[in-house]
Amino acid sequence: MFKDSAMKIHGIRQKTLSLLLQIAKESHPNEFVALLRERDGFIDEVNLLPGTIAGEESARMLFDMMPLDTHLAGSAHSHPSGAIRPSNADVNFFPRTGKYHLIIGFPYSGSDWKCFTADGDPYVMQVVT
Ligand SMILES: [Zn+2]
Repeated sequence: MFKDSAMKIHGIRQKTLSLLLQIAKESHPNEFVALLRERDGFIDEVNLLPGTIAGEESARMLFDMMPLDTHLAGSAHSHPSGAIRPSNADVNFFPRTGKYHLIIGFPYSGSDWKCFTADGDPYVMQVVT
């Protein structure tokens, strides 16, 4: 289980967000799952989890295999259905991977994403260059 730390996240880099939207588009109609890493308080690295992700269940199994990483800021995954809200399965695995979690919904345009805390509550994530 991820323990709350002093890590403070100030925002996500625009190029990182653009990359996530692109991966979501290319993965459609499948779901993709990635881990987000921070540097100096900004999310700027995407670690795609290996394997083919076809749904929420396989996503959760991959999170179980994840190594411990102190720069882990959270996760990002897509919802090909277009619903940008955490499922029950999402809320169960969010706390394992960090504090901030992006859900990117079809059709994956610049505004088709939201950030949530590990509890599944909406969080206003700043986008910075
Ligand atoms: Zn989900």
